[in-house]
Amino acid sequence: MKKLPWYHEGLAFRCTQCGDCCTGEPGYVWVNQEEIDAMAKELGMKPEQFEHEYVEREGRRRTLRERENGDCVILDEKTRKCRAYQSRPRQCRTWPFWQSNLRSPADWERTCQECPGAGTGDLVPLEKIQEQMKQIRV
Ligand code: SF4
Repeated sequence: MKKLPWYHEGLAFRCTQCGDCCTGEPGYVWVNQEEIDAMAKELGMKPEQFEHEYVEREGRRRTLRERENGDCVILDEKTRKCRAYQSRPRQCRTWPFWQSNLRSPADWERTCQECPGAGTGDLVPLEKIQEQMKQIRV
C-alpha cells in the first residue's frame, strides 16, 4: 500500500493578500510562453514588449525580473498587489503548495513563518494540495 504523505489530513491556508511572497530574498518566478502571453494581454502589452521589459533568461528557462528592493517587477509598488493577478503564473498560483515547502513538517513550518496565510484558515484537502504540486516543480 502506498504510504500517505505526512500532510494527508490537509493543510490550512488562507491568503491574507499581504504581498510578502512577491518580494524579499532573490529568487525565480519561472514563466513559459503561455504565461508570458497571458500576462502581457492582461497588461495590454505585446508579448515581445512584456518579455523585453519584465523577463530575463536563466539558462534555458525564463523568469520574471526583480526590482532592486526584491519586489517582483509585476508587483504594484503602491498597492502591493499583483498587476497581472488574473493571469499570474503557475508558480504563484500554487504557492505555498510547492514540493520544496512540503518535504517535511519542518519545511512547512518554515513556510508558515514566511507566509502569514500558511497554517491559518480552512484545511486544504490532500487531493487539492497534490493537484497544485503537480502543476510545477518548485
Ligand atoms: S505571503 Fe502568503 S498571505 Fe501573503 S500574499 Fe503571499 S500567499 Fe498571501
